[in-house]
Amino acid sequence: MTQIAELIELERIIDDGAAYLDARVVCRVSAGEREFPVHAIALGNPDLDVPAVGFFGGVHGLERIGAQVLIAYLHSLVKRLPWDGVLHRQLESLRLVFMPLVNPGGVWLGTRANPNGVDLMRNAPIDSGERVPLLVGGQRISSRLPWYRGAPGAAMEAESGALCAVASDELLAREFSIALDCHSGFGSNDRLWFPYAHTAQPIAQLPEMHALKELFDHSNGHHRYIFEPQSRQYLAHGDLWDYLYQRTEAQTARTFLPLTLEMGSWRWVKKNPRQLFSRHGIFNPLIDHRQQRVLRRHLAWLDFLTRAASCHARWLPTGAAREAHRQQALDLWYRSP
Ligand SMILES: [Zn+2]
Repeated sequence: MTQIAELIELERIIDDGAAYLDARVVCRVSAGEREFPVHAIALGNPDLDVPAVGFFGGVHGLERIGAQVLIAYLHSLVKRLPWDGVLHRQLESLRLVFMPLVNPGGVWLGTRANPNGVDLMRNAPIDSGERVPLLVGGQRISSRLPWYRGAPGAAMEAESGALCAVASDELLAREFSIALDCHSGFGSNDRLWFPYAHTAQPIAQLPEMHALKELFDHSNGHHRYIFEPQSRQYLAHGDLWDYLYQRTEAQTARTFLPLTLEMGSWRWVKKNPRQLFSRHGIFNPLIDHRQQRVLRRHLAWLDFLTRAASCHARWLPTGAAREAHRQQALDLWYRSP
């Protein structure tokens, strides 16, 4: 590899859509002799009074399929902009933000961590007070071991700092926003995780999260996502979305719904067991038609999020309905069977 294919594709889209996009380089990252930009691309109405959706990917360098899904979606939006008046009308009252390749140094090196050996998804200044699994939950023993959180008391890494800054400016500052961070590698099903990751306690906006899940269930009858709090699978220190969520939780006038898409990769491995012998193969579909199918499969979900954000006033629950959503969510996710 002499270049990062996803970065080349992203920069081509930025050029192609220049008339419609607010694109900037939020930081630069060195990996050995090389230096790579981290891009943030926004489109739609910048006014902080309109809702927003943020799409993030490539946080873990090995999980390239997440970046590819978002780049394919951004590409389709840019190709629709010259003709699609319905999309333009939607963007008059919606902001979309993309950060599809948060960790280009990790992609370049073929590592989960960034070039400093830090796992960006364990890098936020937030500690679990509960029992987290050894190593996977985040560790400060050594950057040579996976899931390294960074040195105690150190500032956040440039990439995680840039992600938090983009999320703060473009999402948290609004009355309503959704974030989707695309990952792969966990299990055989596609999962949609919401905070918390550092505690088994429910979030304050559990009713809103449950209402979003129900809205998706009703509008996309046969979807195969498992929607759940991350804490149902495992607890971890340093989760960036827990950290960002906690910053808004006390502000009852704001709704910020961060989600992580964990694309189940074990199914790709099962269908093509030779992938087990490739480090990339455990996290990405290696066969072309399977990759195309993955890119297609998630488009409906991404598009749904933009519509849910555009029309949030029509489905966000209030009063007794909100309390009913909380009870259903507690029964579904927080009570043991
Ligand atoms: Zn990941």
